[in-house]
Amino acid sequence: MSARSADVVVIGAGVMGAATAYFAAAAGLSVVVVERGGIASGTSSRCEGNLLVSDKELGPELELTLYSQRVWREDLAEHGDAWEFETKGGIIVAEDAATTASLEKLAAHQRSLGIEVELLDDMDAVRELEPYANPALSSGAFYPGDAQVQPILATHHLLRLARERGAEVLLRTPVEAIVTRGGRAVGVQTPQGVISGGAVVNCAGPWAGDVAELAGLELPVLPRRGFVLVTEPVPVTIHHKVYSAGYVGDVASSDAGLQVSPVVEGTPSGTVLLGSSRERVGFDASFSREAVARIAQAAVRLFPALADLSLLRTYSGFRPYCPDHLPVIGEDARLPGLWHAAGQEGAGIGLSVGIAKLLAQALTGGEPDMSLAPFRPHRFERMSAA
Ligand SMILES: Cc1cc2nc3c(=O)[nH]c(=O)nc-3n(C[C@H](O)[C@H](O)[C@H](O)COP(=O)(O)OP(=O)(O)OC[C@H]3O[C@@H](n4cnc5c(N)ncnc54)[C@H](O)[C@@H]3O)c2cc1C
Repeated sequence: MSARSADVVVIGAGVMGAATAYFAAAAGLSVVVVERGGIASGTSSRCEGNLLVSDKELGPELELTLYSQRVWREDLAEHGDAWEFETKGGIIVAEDAATTASLEKLAAHQRSLGIEVELLDDMDAVRELEPYANPALSSGAFYPGDAQVQPILATHHLLRLARERGAEVLLRTPVEAIVTRGGRAVGVQTPQGVISGGAVVNCAGPWAGDVAELAGLELPVLPRRGFVLVTEPVPVTIHHKVYSAGYVGDVASSDAGLQVSPVVEGTPSGTVLLGSSRERVGFDASFSREAVARIAQAAVRLFPALADLSLLRTYSGFRPYCPDHLPVIGEDARLPGLWHAAGQEGAGIGLSVGIAKLLAQALTGGEPDMSLAPFRPHRFERMSAA
């Protein structure tokens, strides 16, 4: 490899690296993406592609979610077909009366922020939208703005757009070290040589902590495993993404043990996707009968008819989890020149384009549309000191 250099070296060709490459190249920066495997060979091909506002707690992540939704819908509107953008709508189901009360409270807060949400007072109202939902449950809330994309297509297409704007993508090229000079990150070391960069952006998903460690820095991004079950195809009978209110609590939990809350959605091909599980077991990719069985049981609670279907397959992936449930975005004050875009956990498809647009604004010396302060990478040092 001849000596390479660029304004921005992006580590990782998952959706985050692809979006970063696109927005940086579109802002006029020269970009090299360095990926140790293939395009979307990490978590971006082992997930679902929901762009949800309904599951977000109030705070900076919700603000970032709303921003990202606008980027998908407005800045990238012309590409929607390329990644199968669909405004499918989401329904949260309260399984009992106590949960109905907390769902109403959450909905009232979200409405005050301009999120469109319609309370479904009983299961008759839920079943008008989802005729096969379990009539024995309590109530629901409908979020017409919840959308989805096909994450693998989104990753490929964003990289294609980046390449059209001059970006270079190096596959099967692992980053082995972060090159520093005078207390700054100035490039990456690969088996084929050094690639110099004005900025190095760590988009390594659940491996972002390992990449930070290459620079001697601690970044507590940890893998949080999740399984997805795929049923045999049926005529489409589930129209929205439907999930239990318990899912919102599981997302926000820091428990390392297995947590399961039902998430069910039909697909255009007729298969039904069933989630979700969360557990911190390192990078253990082995099959878990317990997780899969509990997901299936939980899904049948929402839609009893699912009990008659066979599974085609299951798959699992590792969400990039941060202990305070906020992503890590921006330049690392401990090593200027090294930037991070990681820790997006179970929202990394949805948030990718918003984060990338904000990063491109910051990388070109501008003021980002929203403050990146809540996501600053070195915030954990203060947490561990405390
Ligand atoms: C079961 C499940 C369901 C999910 N559902 C959703 C959902 O519905 N909606 C949503 O928004 N999110 C969802 N997510 C989360 C989402 O998948 C992730 O947040 C997102 O894919 C992270 O993208 P990324 O590009 O940061 O990481 P990745 O896709 O993992 O990409 C990181 C890349 O970095 C590369 N890399 C690592 N180390 C190096 C190195 N040293 N040198 C070179 N390359 C390196 C890896 O090979 C990899 O390709 C889900 C996740 C799971 C597990």
